[in-house]
Amino acid sequence: MKIRKPIVIANWKLNGGLDLICVSVASFIGKHFNADIAICPPYIYMRDMMTFLQFSELHIGSQNVSRYQSGAYTGETSAQMLKQAGCSLCLIGHSERRAIFGETNEGCNIKVRTVLTHDLLPVLCVGENQQEREANVTEDVLYKQIREGLANINLDGKDLCIAYEPVWAIGTGLAATPTIAQEVHQFIRAQLADMFGHEIANRLRILYGGSVNKINTRELLEQKDVDGLLVGGASLDPGHFLAICQQASELAVS
Ligand code: PEP
Repeated sequence: MKIRKPIVIANWKLNGGLDLICVSVASFIGKHFNADIAICPPYIYMRDMMTFLQFSELHIGSQNVSRYQSGAYTGETSAQMLKQAGCSLCLIGHSERRAIFGETNEGCNIKVRTVLTHDLLPVLCVGENQQEREANVTEDVLYKQIREGLANINLDGKDLCIAYEPVWAIGTGLAATPTIAQEVHQFIRAQLADMFGHEIANRLRILYGGSVNKINTRELLEQKDVDGLLVGGASLDPGHFLAICQQASELAVS
């Protein structure tokens, strides 16, 4: 049985449309899960998804959030707007946002704090790239991402998730082995304990992401410190995503 309630998040990125929303939500209707399940569609579909959600346990997440509250920031969406739209959680610092849109640890830190202020669940994404893993500096990279990304944050009474997503595993079909995932998650939890104390570190959930599918779900989630999954490509197939969520739910209680 998992110590912490599993959480499974679908990251659709710049994919999907109304048809995918209908089929995905329909496959969750009337089903109960012992896990928190969320889908992060493109912003434009959040409201459409909300209208379909009332008979399912699905939550809506955001793939990003503005660091600003309001004002002359063309193209941005604030945490308050996301909250009002019915969103429950926000991904922050996904590796694609870091690599393509220049997001920094400092920027992620502002976003985490903004999201917490609006009672949304921040999911801070961290992970090393291929060169960093080969150069044996994974822990240094993660240390910096976590320390700077979570600097000056008070988590009393607040929740937060970390998603460990090794960049070399995202969209490559080469998931981290369960052993690697557990080693890194243990390191991340130790950092959280150092920053926030053992009690908080023991309740925070650490997700793994990177080529998760219905075949490797079980072995990854069986690891003690793997509390959930962030799923990209496989979440675009509703039946496949449902199978991942069902396994997470079974592992929660078995
Ligand atoms: C992701 O981009 O967050 C991700 C985990 O993608 P994939 O599952 O396709 O590797």
